[in-house]
Amino acid sequence: MTADIPANLVRRTAFPSSVSRSVVTPLQPSVVYASPDPDALDDQYEGRAFGYTYSREGHPNATVLAQKIDALEGAEGGWITASGMAAVTATMLGLLKQGDHIVGGDQLYGRSLRMLTQDLPRYGITASFADPTDAAAVEAAVTPSTKLILVEVVSNPTLRVADMEAIAEIAKRHRLVLVVDNTFTTPRAYRPFDHGADVVIHSVTKLLAGHSDAMLGYVAAKDADHRAAIDGTIVTLGLTPSPYDCWMAERGLMSFHLRYDRAEENAALLAEHLAGFEKVARVLYPGRPDHPDHNRAGVLLGPRFGNMVSFEVLGGRDAANALTRAMPDMAFAPTLGDIGTTLSHAASSSHRGLTPDGRQALGIMEGFFRISVGVEDITLLREEFSRGLAALA
Ligand SMILES: *Cc1c(COP(=O)(O)O)cnc(C)c1O
Repeated sequence: MTADIPANLVRRTAFPSSVSRSVVTPLQPSVVYASPDPDALDDQYEGRAFGYTYSREGHPNATVLAQKIDALEGAEGGWITASGMAAVTATMLGLLKQGDHIVGGDQLYGRSLRMLTQDLPRYGITASFADPTDAAAVEAAVTPSTKLILVEVVSNPTLRVADMEAIAEIAKRHRLVLVVDNTFTTPRAYRPFDHGADVVIHSVTKLLAGHSDAMLGYVAAKDADHRAAIDGTIVTLGLTPSPYDCWMAERGLMSFHLRYDRAEENAALLAEHLAGFEKVARVLYPGRPDHPDHNRAGVLLGPRFGNMVSFEVLGGRDAANALTRAMPDMAFAPTLGDIGTTLSHAASSSHRGLTPDGRQALGIMEGFFRISVGVEDITLLREEFSRGLAALA
């Protein structure tokens, strides 16, 4: 050994032990975990002892985050995935096989729709779509090959509220796996496992993490066989999250309930403010009596009407451009659930793949905007939107 390279320099030494503990969750970036001997490894793999081995199969930062979301959802053994779409992928590929059929809500998240219409058919898994506010239409879409229903409780961007109680009944009657993407509603407004869901999915990227700096998903299943199938798919396909994102998201999640409550309060006030403008053709917020699903939202959601507000301005694309240009401090960005308010325009982002007729059928015109309301001072938000709308006069 030479004096300038001490033995411990490149040794993977253990962390110093301490009688006091770190208050903050340690960030554990290790991809691999060392065991004392082969017997200990056997114990781990055979379930006699708990331990980590290789981070694609799980790591402490994912465990800590999963357990917190499990507690929010009333779930057990949920998994964190690399994105919300990874959670959708793990569910579909874990639970379905060639020849199976899915009934999906007709206004699912754009990438979920794409997966069901373009990707899964290549593996022999097909899908039909139905309006989830119309239980009869959902039931009519069920075929003898149907295995699974995928729904979102509140649709994007028109904020329609699915008839969840009836859909849960249909799933039970036909022995279908009911998968609920709870990203928009969050467990603050709706806990799918309390209402007959078999699998719950989240884009943790959105409201749960809440700061647009971590991309993650979550999936939990009620049934142990489903759980094993989804777990296996996550590990084999490598849908595992990065420890750093989990660490960031755990920190964000700690204020989730406070952010949600404040954003929801702001959303109701901002919806009211927008409704007062001549240039605003309509405002969509489930908490407003003029919303088509207001009564159902009141019963189903607690009533927790959420932080999402949509509205349409008169004047088409020109007006849409003028509005966003007059609000330079507000992030015009195709996401939701950030701590700050963001504004998105479906026709040029999430729904740009549809034809103008297809968009019109959903009520998404060129002047249609969706707001993910944040926790700012409501006075500031009112002023900002007033300035944006004044640009249309
Ligand atoms: C964003 C989103 C997803 C996808 O999540 P990512 O984290 O972006 O992969 C799925 N469903 C809904 C409802 C979403 O809003």
